[in-house]
Amino acid sequence: MNSAKNTFDYVIVGGGSAGATLAKRLANDPEVSVCLIEGGPANENDPKVLMLNESLGLVGDPKYDYDYGIAPQERGNSLLRLSRAKMLGGCSAHNDCWALRAPDADMDRWSELGAEGWDAASVAPYFDQIFEDLRVHPVTKGAELSNAWIAAANEQGFETIDNTQGDYRQGISWVSLNEDSGVRVSTAVAYLFPTSKLPPNLYLQLETLAHRVVVEDGRAVAVETNKGRFEATREIILSTGAIDTPKLLMLSGIGPAEHLKQHDVEVVQDLPGVGANLSDHIETPVIWESTKEPGDSINGLDLGLYADVLQEGDFSIQVTIGHFTYWLHSEPFNELPNPPLAFTFAPNVARPASKGTIRLASADPKDKPIVDPRYFTDEEGRDERLLVEGIRLARELAKSEALKDWIVQEVAPGPELQTDEELGAYARRYSNTVYHPSATCKMGSLNDPDAVVDPRLRVRGVEGLRIADASVFPELVRVNPNMTVVMIGAKAADLIKEDNS
Ligand SMILES: Cc1cc2nc3c(=O)[nH]c(=O)nc-3n(C[C@H](O)[C@H](O)[C@H](O)COP(=O)(O)OP(=O)(O)OC[C@H]3O[C@@H](n4cnc5c(N)ncnc54)[C@H](O)[C@@H]3O)c2cc1C
Repeated sequence: MNSAKNTFDYVIVGGGSAGATLAKRLANDPEVSVCLIEGGPANENDPKVLMLNESLGLVGDPKYDYDYGIAPQERGNSLLRLSRAKMLGGCSAHNDCWALRAPDADMDRWSELGAEGWDAASVAPYFDQIFEDLRVHPVTKGAELSNAWIAAANEQGFETIDNTQGDYRQGISWVSLNEDSGVRVSTAVAYLFPTSKLPPNLYLQLETLAHRVVVEDGRAVAVETNKGRFEATREIILSTGAIDTPKLLMLSGIGPAEHLKQHDVEVVQDLPGVGANLSDHIETPVIWESTKEPGDSINGLDLGLYADVLQEGDFSIQVTIGHFTYWLHSEPFNELPNPPLAFTFAPNVARPASKGTIRLASADPKDKPIVDPRYFTDEEGRDERLLVEGIRLARELAKSEALKDWIVQEVAPGPELQTDEELGAYARRYSNTVYHPSATCKMGSLNDPDAVVDPRLRVRGVEGLRIADASVFPELVRVNPNMTVVMIGAKAADLIKEDNS
């Protein structure tokens, strides 16, 4: 390493779920130098970041969050905000720590979509390893309310499943968490803390914002930041997440040529898929006033339910069951009733059909990009229909013997809303992101014009540049994606090592 000249073998931009994992794994070889450029601080001793039960309080706090607004939505909730953590560990440092393995069927679909080598069998060893590193284990199964939900679901034919082990039939499952005695095991905690003990070949450049990648003669050679230039002799890897990676590429002249020209950005490589295909899980809450306290739980989010509401042979909604009224106290959710004792059933669209975009607002790196998820715009209206069916399922389950003693009344949507139109309008107005944007620089084969990276994560048409983060998903997995993103960071390290040996 020659840090005086800021030259390294590898420069990684973004120390989040994937980037922190990748940095540590590359730096396990003492012969190579790795620079990890991260926009935020480490927050290494901040209890608000470390304690899992504080996580909901971090969302939207400008100290910890880039807090992206979205473009006005034709059919969805224009007021929702896409939280993105600004610190080492990225969103793994402020998420809810649901640690789910991607369903095998979803990984096999990735392979069918052109991501050769990413099928379930090929990625299994990486999932196994990261589950160990991030100390994944099931929640404590004690809370009375959660046990009542399990009994209610069982009463109505939903078996208790264990999706930690990859079991994703229709059913209800206790979740697993990446935490240890109440402390979240983010990728920063698992791989980089304490930062004072990092090996000398892993150089952390914190609180530094990348502005663009410099490409010379078709090869990525350096990253320009607000604190100077960092050069890579081997490779640059972008791990800035599904919103910032396409922004950074476009600022570097890599993206849809027409759009770049509109902002006077010189076109380095015309890649129409950059910032396209934005795919996110969208949910809506059903809330009941409750008769009693829920019982002990680490963060009140113990259960996931998986339902095949359109009778297609596989689950199409995932449901989060919360021990409180809807957990986001922002517009327009402030309009929803907020009884002191309440619980929530929030179905989300597991494989969204609606697709959006990330576009530059200007060529100034300080400007936030335009994030337009285009929720509920799929032609068939499937995404809306799934949430309507999710609300109907909630009402059926609420009639169960096991929940009888728990419910005072349904307070949202409220029994007066019954028709598909009424429930659809409710679901769209009170819809929120599950914070899983993905697929904005998707991985695919050479004959897919929308693919931005190949299955070895190399950016098409540019030497020495890869991407490893949620933006490369060929398609959003049907469950919470953090473990899949961490898996990408781990596998990326092996791909890079193989190609540079
Ligand atoms: C509130 C919330 C709750 C969630 N809950 C769960 C959950 O319980 N389970 C689950 O599986 N998933 C959950 N997720 C989703 C999951 O955490 C993300 O999908 C995952 O962390 C994305 O990882 P990433 O590596 O793509 O990006 P990130 O983890 O966001 O990492 C990107 C990193 O890049 C840095 N960066 C960005 N731009 C720049 C720049 N220009 N220069 C330098 N650095 C930059 C950022 O500071 C950040 O550290 C949640 C997300 C949120 C926001």
